[in-house]
Amino acid sequence: MDYDTYGSSAVELAIALANADLDPDDGVSAFLTSHDEWFTPGTSLDLTPGEVDEAAATARLVRAVALAETQDDVLSRLNELLALARPRPYATDHDGELHLHYARPDAPVLEQLTTTVAMGLSQVVVQHGWQRLGVCSAEGCDDVYVDTSRNASRRYCSNTCASRSTVAAYRARQKA
Ligand SMILES: [Zn+2]
Ligand SMILES: [Zn+2]
Repeated sequence: MDYDTYGSSAVELAIALANADLDPDDGVSAFLTSHDEWFTPGTSLDLTPGEVDEAAATARLVRAVALAETQDDVLSRLNELLALARPRPYATDHDGELHLHYARPDAPVLEQLTTTVAMGLSQVVVQHGWQRLGVCSAEGCDDVYVDTSRNASRRYCSNTCASRSTVAAYRARQKA
């Protein structure tokens, strides 16, 4: 298992989408702008209101896959997500490293986003197991994560949540 490339692969985009705050009116467009390195240069980031809803639905599905507690649930949710994808992979070295892109380069941004997210998440689930996806154990945080640790021991979405929880547990012990 190659932890480095798997950690930086399209699954990270899926996790970022699931954790993004898409509620504000410009939430989806802010997400696209801050992740525009994933899209073919020159792709228009403008979405119709219907496409904004579709992007939000994709985010909810990614989250639902990460929260699923049985393999059957993972499969049905993952397949729902994959049904939205339009894979047409191609190989590229645009960043100096040979790798695959999942969506055709001239696809509209929503198609690039949905396809990349669905394929990236599916790759991790089928290659490394759905247990690699989880939800943060820190109090007050419900962000999802993909566990790229060697022994699959991750419990928090970020170092921030991990250290916040360690401090809280320490204080609780001090009080006791
Ligand atoms: Zn690329
Ligand atoms: Zn967290």
